Amino acid sequence: MKGEKQAAFYQSVLNSFDKAAALTDLPKGLLSQIRECNAVYQMRFPVKINNQFQVIEAYRVQHSQHRTPTKGGIRFSSQVNQEEVMALASLMTFKCALVDVPFGGAKGGVKISPRKYTEVQLEKITRRYTTELIRKNFIGAALDVPAPDYGTGAREMAWIFDTYNTFKIGDIDSLACVTGKPITQGGIRGRTEATGRGVYYGLRELLNQADEMEAVGLTTGISGKRLVIQGLGNVGSYTATISQNEGGAIIVGVSELEGTIYNPDGMDIDKLIKYRKENGTMIGFPGSKKLEDRDGWVSLDCDVLVPAALESQIHKGNAGSIKAKIIAEAANGPVSDDAEDILRDKGIIVLPDMYLNAGGVTVSYFEWLKNLSHMRFGRMEKRFNQNTYSSLVDLVEKTTGKVIGKRERQVVARGADEVDLVRSGLEETMITAYYQIKDVKSRRKRVHDYRSAAFIAALNKIGSDYLNMGIFP
Ligand code: NAD
Repeated sequence: MKGEKQAAFYQSVLNSFDKAAALTDLPKGLLSQIRECNAVYQMRFPVKINNQFQVIEAYRVQHSQHRTPTKGGIRFSSQVNQEEVMALASLMTFKCALVDVPFGGAKGGVKISPRKYTEVQLEKITRRYTTELIRKNFIGAALDVPAPDYGTGAREMAWIFDTYNTFKIGDIDSLACVTGKPITQGGIRGRTEATGRGVYYGLRELLNQADEMEAVGLTTGISGKRLVIQGLGNVGSYTATISQNEGGAIIVGVSELEGTIYNPDGMDIDKLIKYRKENGTMIGFPGSKKLEDRDGWVSLDCDVLVPAALESQIHKGNAGSIKAKIIAEAANGPVSDDAEDILRDKGIIVLPDMYLNAGGVTVSYFEWLKNLSHMRFGRMEKRFNQNTYSSLVDLVEKTTGKVIGKRERQVVARGADEVDLVRSGLEETMITAYYQIKDVKSRRKRVHDYRSAAFIAALNKIGSDYLNMGIFP
């Protein structure tokens, strides 16, 4: 039934929240405040498409304003409805708290299938949606800051910024009203890849844990691990390329709208992405076999399943057939809560969305800071560091009497660029958050899974924010 999946998704988030909330010492009234969405803006606006007026349904939900601005992506999809946006906005609050990004959670959705519109029509819709947000004070550097999500990217963010900027003449911080912008329009290097790169860092950290790997019967390390990816969009493609090229993982299966392909010996993901671009499909990629059933990706023989498309992809109907030992939730809500018991009984580790795909919002936070400071990261210290390291190399050469090679000198005596700093900040964030969750999981006897542990870690931080405000004695 239409909308059923999204309603189940929101219920799933609420169920996971309730399960974790019961394990905290926070006052009941405070938990109810944190659980609910603070503001839901449902809108309808007309857009003239091919000389006909179309009424577009859209949303912006601010889940929690315990910290401002609120933050969350904008989704363009024909499946958007209020409950889906509420579920996604709620997840954003917990995600931000978990990775120490000082924002409340929000999310936006426009109920359209972007493939059915031309670029000019999409621009019209995006600009009109932004105008609606401005009218209701649902956008601004200090209020609510959108970003890309499913079906949107840097192009849409540029339209949003430009529309906002046109209305808000004199707002010196207008660049910070939206993140995920193109570099030339106030974006930050490393944002496009950020969510996928964060998935890689988080998964790598889990795979490095000897105790966890022993429990599921895997060796430690990401190198050689067999991954199956669902969705080769922004998050899925960067997760796959970085895991393969930097981690040495093997991509054995990929599922996309046109079908699922598999090769137990692994597929070169860079070549596959190029092939898909050139041919408009992955089917026929040399060395791969097409599965009869597209949804068969779930039960492929592999070590890690990476759902990176949409919510509710793994449910009680297919969870029993999973052969993977780990599910890495790159997408938001890909595992329904009715599947959790089955996965737990099978001993499968689920690395939850709220942690694993937090790389996007983390780097969005860096972009927002860059926009507010009106300066590129690394501009002040890059040359200073480079000169200092170079002097050190000179000193080593002088004292040892040996000449250090040009290449070695370039590696050591180098100042960090913006992208280096962004990646370093992201890696630090993902590793720190992993150990915060693992700590909750190992200390609390009644907490057996990463999702509950992540919720508890986030809830304790949000709870103490509220308690510090003195609202809840
Ligand atoms: P995207 O639109 O770039 O890519 C999604 C891909 O999934 C598309 O290529 C689409 O064809 C494919 N897909 C859709 N339905 C499918 C199906 N049934 N089977 C196989 N493939 C299917 O979107 P994205 O930005 O990569 O987002 C993917 C997920 O990650 C979403 O859940 C989103 O909320 C989440 N997420 C995205 C970001 C971000 O920075 N973009 C950040 C955090 C979380």
